[in-house]
Amino acid sequence: MANGFVDKATIHVIAGRGGDGAVAFHREKFVPAGGPDGGDGGRGGDVIAVVDDHMSTLMDFRYKRKYVAGNGMNGQGNRSSGRDGESLTIRVPRGTLIRDKATGGILHDMSDDAPYVIARGGNGGWGNRHFATPTRQVPRFAKPGRAGEDREIVLELKLLADVGLVGFPNVGKSTLLSVVSKAHPKIANYHFTTLFPNLGVVYVSEGVSFVMADIPGIIEGASDGAGLGHDFLRHIDRCRLLIHLVDVSGSEGRDPIADFDAINEELHLYNEDLAARPQIVAANKCDLLGDDREPIERLKQHVEAKGYRFFELSAAAHQGTQELMRAAAGLLAGLPPVLRYEPDYVPPEPVIDTSEALAIEQCDDDYWSVEGPWLQRLLQSVNLGDYESRMYFDRVLREAGVFARLESMGVKDGDTIAIYDLEFEYQS
Ligand code: GDP
Ligand code: MG
Repeated sequence: MANGFVDKATIHVIAGRGGDGAVAFHREKFVPAGGPDGGDGGRGGDVIAVVDDHMSTLMDFRYKRKYVAGNGMNGQGNRSSGRDGESLTIRVPRGTLIRDKATGGILHDMSDDAPYVIARGGNGGWGNRHFATPTRQVPRFAKPGRAGEDREIVLELKLLADVGLVGFPNVGKSTLLSVVSKAHPKIANYHFTTLFPNLGVVYVSEGVSFVMADIPGIIEGASDGAGLGHDFLRHIDRCRLLIHLVDVSGSEGRDPIADFDAINEELHLYNEDLAARPQIVAANKCDLLGDDREPIERLKQHVEAKGYRFFELSAAAHQGTQELMRAAAGLLAGLPPVLRYEPDYVPPEPVIDTSEALAIEQCDDDYWSVEGPWLQRLLQSVNLGDYESRMYFDRVLREAGVFARLESMGVKDGDTIAIYDLEFEYQS
């Protein structure tokens, strides 16, 4: 949408790389040959999402798309560890869904206050002091840090509101919200004034309150992508109850009954679940009709025949608003809570291009190191605590010719193979 409201954004998040471990030996005056004392690399910083209730759109993400956490520092001599990389916090509006861009799977629903790690920083590499053994007193090698997770994600805002206000532009949605809550939406007598969904807390009585959202811009043809509606309809996904506002005065030259049917038709076309959501109908701008009750009665009959509850309202004059809010609160008490999305992200099989070069190095008599970018990706994608995963990992290494190469270089049974911070004993 061109006019400012941003409720979807694709961003690129890159966690920090772990620092490298150091190769160093203890030095002291009068002590000829000290032991290994290379410190570990610091951990890379995470990219973390948190809810910020001062934000109501994803606007900021339109202008900045790349988010990079700090790298861990390298280890130093004298057992000194590198400093951890600084984590980066991304603030999002409450109700933002975080999806994986490639699969579309939901990683997390930012509905509560718990921070969520979107991209994990890489571990730092071990310094050489870890590699000293009784038979290897002078380890001249250390381990490099691992890359941080790097992913494209889609942020999608789905408002958290109990009640969604629907209706044609200018029927008085923003007016109603401002009258019954402390929200101060823009009110003006022309269409499309409300470009942001506005949220307000409606206080009904002691201990009884709910959140209401003014969902702007549903117009005829919207579900075909003709109007604003399509972008906004997804905001009412989570609402437990809809209040359907109709301008019963026909002040814009339209027929109230036709308006009512058109909006419901849009809801049907967009999503049957939404159309089936409990709905209360309120005829607004009754004050403009004076003594002419005919339009009100006509609409009332039409609406009640379809099984909806009907209210008369003059939002601008604060008439009928309290009754409507009490009825909404009463209905809400019997409805299920707002929808929370469960994560459904399934990691795809990693794309492992085993033709990329690997560095295999004999660090010491019985210690081998295997490194390469695809191995890092492979490690990130497998859970080595799980038997199936270990078998998969083993198979990929075998098929990539890693073991054959090690053998041609002279690896012996019982030697240690290190792949970053993973170590195992070689068995032919
Ligand atoms: P929205 O587009 O549905 O959010 O409509 P607004 O709340 O912005 O209202 C559109 C216009 O209708 C504004 O000029 C309001 O002052 C006016 N309005 C809203 N409610 C009433 C009402 O009950 N009576 C009258 N006479 N005007 C109203
Ligand atoms: Mg409005």
